[in-house]
Amino acid sequence: MPSRLAIYPGTFDPITNGHLDIIDRAAELFDEVTVALAVNSQKAPLFSESERLELIRQAIIERLGHRTNIRVEAFQGLLVDYAKDKRACAIVRGLRVLTDFEYEFQMALINRKLAESISTVFLMPHEQYTYLNSTIVRELARHGSVIDAFVPPCVKAALETKFNLTRK
Ligand code: ADP
Repeated sequence: MPSRLAIYPGTFDPITNGHLDIIDRAAELFDEVTVALAVNSQKAPLFSESERLELIRQAIIERLGHRTNIRVEAFQGLLVDYAKDKRACAIVRGLRVLTDFEYEFQMALINRKLAESISTVFLMPHEQYTYLNSTIVRELARHGSVIDAFVPPCVKAALETKFNLTRK
């Protein structure tokens, strides 16, 4: 049987413990998971593409080092084209709160129209991460708040460097 690959796409600006929770659950369910950084020239992310890729890779080593079935790469263009190229059977998305649902539902249906063979699979994170997103993490870090519960150590360090908040 061919190995079942799932794609987990996102902006990951930066990767958080919520993302890592979803990656862990996906890695348990599928033979392989590719964390796919969506390169979108219309967004102006805090971290560059290479910084985000490096942080995803480091965070996976720090937190999910026991998993051997996770890859990380960037992609451009339409997600379904990329997923078809990779022969993925699923696109994984995280569902946190009801407000995520409408957009995700719409995207899942459109993606199914474009690629019938690829299913969108929604995973719920542990409830402690349901309120967490990268925007909140960036704002907290910008104002010097404690973010230890929200991101892995490598991301905390990168945010401190970015905002020049390293304290003695
Ligand atoms: P965000 O700014 O919402 O973190 P991303 O594009 O990086 O945006 O998110 C990629 C995917 O990860 C989306 O499916 C999103 O719903 C999911 N996700 C983001 N944060 C969490 C979280 N805390 N728990 C579960 N899923 C999450």
